[in-house]
Amino acid sequence: MTILNQTTRSTALSLGDLTALVGRTPLIPLRSLSEHLSEAVRVYAKLEWFNPGGSVKDRPALNIIQTALANGDLHRGKRLLDSTSGNMGISYATFGAALGIPVTLAIPANASQERLTILNALGAEVILTDAGEGIDGAILEARKLATEFPHIYWYGHQYDNPANWQAHYKTTGPEIFDQTGGSMTHFVTGLGTSGTLMGAGRYLREKIPSIRLVGVQPDASFHGLEGLKHMQSAIKPGIFDETVPDEILELRTEEAYEMVLKLARLEGLFVGISSGAAALGALRIAERLQTGVVVTLFPDSGYKYLSDKELWRGA
Ligand code: PMP
Repeated sequence: MTILNQTTRSTALSLGDLTALVGRTPLIPLRSLSEHLSEAVRVYAKLEWFNPGGSVKDRPALNIIQTALANGDLHRGKRLLDSTSGNMGISYATFGAALGIPVTLAIPANASQERLTILNALGAEVILTDAGEGIDGAILEARKLATEFPHIYWYGHQYDNPANWQAHYKTTGPEIFDQTGGSMTHFVTGLGTSGTLMGAGRYLREKIPSIRLVGVQPDASFHGLEGLKHMQSAIKPGIFDETVPDEILELRTEEAYEMVLKLARLEGLFVGISSGAAALGALRIAERLQTGVVVTLFPDSGYKYLSDKELWRGA
């Protein structure tokens, strides 16, 4: 393996080509799953695993890093620190490796082996937190480290950092608007940090005032919808403004799992669990309509969940 010397690393701090590949992901119709809908109703999904880090989280991770570099908050000698359930960590680690920024991540210990292996391969430092405390345990650990060691860490704070939702305001929202020619009537997306809904939702509402914005979340605090949060029982993200969504759908883990298999078999889309939840939410909304264009977003593909026996039980 070639180890880059200090001179090469320092030039790497300017933004390189990998970062230019973030965004401009495809939007495709769900055909088979829409067959039972009214003729004049369309459902589209935005495929976010086409991002170089493999998920929607490339967008906020890159914007958080770029904003902190521009402000001078994240400078040479500091480590980028954050809490994550997995995807944000992979995106941070991807751009950290590409830009020469060391990365430390607090992650619940029950994160899938695939995620931990990917983070290890990308060279991120991982601090495992109590699985029973879920993502909230990881958030508290990151907060503690950032407070105790401010000279070591720059805390990305994805749950509270406006650069998270602003990434979606600047990219995801405009892309969807352009890809649908402004014809969309509904946007349905999962709630994790809520960055996707806050950012893309705010942009789309400015462009299409009549649009309905719908959030999707688990129906209970203990759930298997990786990447999503049960807002009522979790630490509420600072960026979450509950006046933005018109409606929030609560879904069961098992029904999202079933939808993951349907997407694979009927649409050829091998997606992660939260994409199953997003599709289910979008179809529930579409089933109420006589006419409309419903857009949802699939955050990642199924590859990081291969070791989840429960998910693929019906396969
Ligand atoms: N699905 C997955 C797989 C995720 O990793 C995330 C991010 N936590 C989301 C959905 C939710 O996205 P957001 O944080 O923008 O609400």
